[in-house]
Amino acid sequence: MGDCIFCRIVKGEMPSRQVFEDDRVLAFDDINPAAPVHVVVIPKVHIPTLIDVKEGEQEYLQAMMAAVPKVAKLKGIDQRGFRVVINCNQEGGQVIYHLHLHVLGGTRLGAKLG
Ligand code: 5GP
Ligand code: ZN
Repeated sequence: MGDCIFCRIVKGEMPSRQVFEDDRVLAFDDINPAAPVHVVVIPKVHIPTLIDVKEGEQEYLQAMMAAVPKVAKLKGIDQRGFRVVINCNQEGGQVIYHLHLHVLGGTRLGAKLG
């Protein structure tokens, strides 16, 4: 998707502060962090939302989740704790329509989720 910001980051057309990468996913610092540590983990293919993940694309979900502990360790928050969030569609607060999860930490996060 040529006009997708996260696809452009995958292609190296847009800069990002990369945290972790493997053959399926990319993780980078969020440009507008909601916590001291705020990393976005994305699949390297364009999947718009969580509900668009097809049968043959489950490996990307698996790779995204597998990246989380690695990101947490790299950021030094694995033992302190962190939160993982996926926003889906309008009422879920999704703004970028390229599937991603947020890893949030580096402070005591509130109990309120929504
Ligand atoms: P959403 O609300 O869609 O779940 O989250 C999108 C996230 O992407 C937001 O936290 C926003 O700050 C982040 N973001 C949007 N554009 C860019 C960008 O160009 N670079 C980076 N690193 N993060 C971005
Ligand atoms: Zn995309």
